[in-house]
Amino acid sequence: MYRTHNCGALRLDDVGESVILSGWVQRIRDKGFVLWIDLRDRYGITQLVVDKARTADGLLKQVRALGREYVIQVRGEVVERVSKNERLLSGEIEVLVRELHVLNPALTPPFTLEDETDGGEELRMKHRYLDIRRNCIKNNLLLRAQAAQAARSYLTSRDFVEIETPYLIRSTPEGARDFVVPSRVSSGEFYALPQSPQMHKQLLMVAGMDRYFQFVRCFRDEDLRADRQPEFTQIDCEMSFGHRADLLAVFEGLTRHLLREVAGVSVGAFPRMTYDEAIEKYGSDKPDIRFGMAFGELNDLAQGKGFQVFDSQELVVGIAVPGAAAHSRKQIDALTRWVRRPQIGAQGLVWVKCDKGRDFKSSVTQFFSPETLHKWAERLRAKPGDLLLVLSGEAAATRRQLGALRLELGKRLDLRKPGVFAPLWVTDFPLLEWDAQEKCYQAVHHPFTAPVETDMPRLDSEPQKVRANAYDLVLNGNEIGSGSIRISDPALQARIFELLGFSQAAAKAQFGFLLNAFAYGAPPHGGIAFGFDRLVALLGGGESIRDFIAFPKNNAGRDLVIDAPAEIDAAQLDELHLKTSE
Ligand code: ASP
Repeated sequence: MYRTHNCGALRLDDVGESVILSGWVQRIRDKGFVLWIDLRDRYGITQLVVDKARTADGLLKQVRALGREYVIQVRGEVVERVSKNERLLSGEIEVLVRELHVLNPALTPPFTLEDETDGGEELRMKHRYLDIRRNCIKNNLLLRAQAAQAARSYLTSRDFVEIETPYLIRSTPEGARDFVVPSRVSSGEFYALPQSPQMHKQLLMVAGMDRYFQFVRCFRDEDLRADRQPEFTQIDCEMSFGHRADLLAVFEGLTRHLLREVAGVSVGAFPRMTYDEAIEKYGSDKPDIRFGMAFGELNDLAQGKGFQVFDSQELVVGIAVPGAAAHSRKQIDALTRWVRRPQIGAQGLVWVKCDKGRDFKSSVTQFFSPETLHKWAERLRAKPGDLLLVLSGEAAATRRQLGALRLELGKRLDLRKPGVFAPLWVTDFPLLEWDAQEKCYQAVHHPFTAPVETDMPRLDSEPQKVRANAYDLVLNGNEIGSGSIRISDPALQARIFELLGFSQAAAKAQFGFLLNAFAYGAPPHGGIAFGFDRLVALLGGGESIRDFIAFPKNNAGRDLVIDAPAEIDAAQLDELHLKTSE
């Protein structure tokens, strides 16, 4: 028997028991006449003790020969500790060692395996199996498993069936590049790894499975961005015979369940906001609504007063920053520099300090009367002590810039608190966007998304104005879920393919199987996919999704543990018809 208990199990009640434990040596403290070992496994740490008075010389010597991270097994008795450690669940006891076996020695790890480690990220990723021994990473993986369990139980209890779909498929139109796998058997042909199981889950609805979910790996060969993974996990869901309201209720319920079970927070009904409203109020389709600072448009109050910077612009828009009237000139100059950085791209920043008095201090006092500036403050719902910040320019770009500034201020003023959860639904995205390069429309969500019923007549006259019956679930400024009601009418689907620039032949070649399936009776259906890595990171209060994935890729898309991607040998290439033999 390797162990009678794990390293987190023993308590005061166990004093006097004879036990066997196995684990890793976390730390040894040698006081000469007494030595302590912290023995660690996944469950916790138990302190082991040997001393001159009670332990044979040979055993003391054996302990002194141990190194960090040696894997050992000990037999001994549980005794009460003299000085107790309240931070450890097993901190009231220790095990007096009678017998010790080294199960395996270990090299000294290249970084300290403590919560505060001295290892840089690359080094830790290369030795991920050591990094996972640290509590913080280990606990993230446990949290992830708990979240998966909770999601499974919620969905299963609502009749969703977990079904696997294939990984070796053909290209899916989700808007990113595919990872492809050459076929050995069919020379010159390739599989694609799924960007999502979109078409298969829709086929499952045609098949009558009614409600489906899957924890599924998706693969997107996108340009690498910070905190993006080329492979990531979705909780992918689809259901039949539900209107949008029914779907939102189920998936809001799932999210609420996860927040309660995993993060221990209860949240009320999720607010809903249309895409247009989100952009107009927050300059983002994934607004962080943990804090206010909603936009106010000032065109009518700011134009035509002789301030030329504003006069010719499409939009003048501002926010009221709570309590920031006390900002010094230097702080405001720093904000101005911040918005003028190329990443943000604003021309400049107009400010107004809403002090108690009638005359507000401002960068534009010579152009605007005190009455006008008070009206601005009113429009932006400012309170005395707030700082108004105003940008102007082309509408879409200016909203984006102000949205970025709002988030930055939210961070600086500590309004984006990790323990606070503010979910919302964003609905009614545009269905199509014009691709000037390709000279055709692109689907904003994907080609299977249904238009909003009442917008249908506009499909021919002004397609860019048609709204999609699509929704995103947004949490603290992150899109954590995205889905839509699907087209289930083959004629409408054919029309959408046409708008997306597919000839009939091309649509048939790429999606023929789906259209054929729909011809056999498709139920009305819709679904959603949650980005599970991001969701778990948010639930765990983490910053980076990498910390919540057992073996993540680095920023260059590399797996540093097994060193992938890697070259393959000539014979393999040959077999895959990727290189002709000499
Ligand atoms: N397939 C979509 C995605 O991966 C989600 C959905 O529409 O269900 O974003």
